[in-house]
Amino acid sequence: MTETKPLVVITGASSGFGAEDAKLFNTAGFPLLLLGRRLEKIQALPLDFTNVMTAAVDVTDQAALKTAIQAAEAKYGATDLLINNAGVMLLGNVQRQDPKEWQTMLDTNVMGVLNGTQIVLPAMVARKHGTIINMSSIAGFKAFANHAAYVASKFGVHGLSETIRQEVSSDNVRVSLVAPGAGETELLTHVTDAGALKDYEAWKQTMGGLTLDPKYVAQTVKFIYDMPQEVNVREIDLAATRQDS
Ligand code: NDP
Repeated sequence: MTETKPLVVITGASSGFGAEDAKLFNTAGFPLLLLGRRLEKIQALPLDFTNVMTAAVDVTDQAALKTAIQAAEAKYGATDLLINNAGVMLLGNVQRQDPKEWQTMLDTNVMGVLNGTQIVLPAMVARKHGTIINMSSIAGFKAFANHAAYVASKFGVHGLSETIRQEVSSDNVRVSLVAPGAGETELLTHVTDAGALKDYEAWKQTMGGLTLDPKYVAQTVKFIYDMPQEVNVREIDLAATRQDS
């Protein structure tokens, strides 16, 4: 008889790190709920969709997020792993950047993580089992020019992760975070400040023009999850070897 694996929920599964997470957990046989606003991109991923549910959900809409998670749980049972991965990085100098871009980052990167966490955490605490892995960034503990609001959002992810980790540790629930350096994803494609983008691209050249391959971020997430429940790898930061900061 084959072992039934528990439900893994991944936000921001349509590209980048989240898409790699989806591939890795799919290959490993976990039932998945894959979320993102661009449903067509999720549905085009090279996956075995037998045990995959998808939904077009904006993580800033907690009600929609809850509806999608409840539908997946009705089919696959309780969420055992939530990967709060959805995020945006809109580079810009704080003296000129449109405050709407700050709001988008704070709403997505901080409120999105809190929204997902609040939906799955009470049942994890009740079951005394479960894992939440938040995608932060090296910008979650270090400053980078032209990243003020993004840094604020990712410092926020570090802070809330450590707080919630303490709150639920006695309930055997793990809260962990992964803090990658620059990676080859779609993250930069939403930047509207041409100067900030040019500086970032120049910085990438100091790494030989190639940053972290998302597959290694996914492997890191999986490593954290695969540890026995009694072990919480609280935080891993990783970057391309040639990244200097
Ligand atoms: P991508 O832009 O490739 O992926 C971002 C994902 O987040 C997409 O699937 C996107 O889906 C989703 N997303 C964005 N906004 C929302 C929203 N409001 N609701 C739901 N989903 C949303 O970038 P990455 O893979 O790089 O980013 C993943 C995470 O990794 C982010 O949290 C990012 O901050 C973090 N990170 C990235 C680094 C990098 O250099 N790439 C470095 C360090 C951390 P859709 O647009 O379909 O909604």
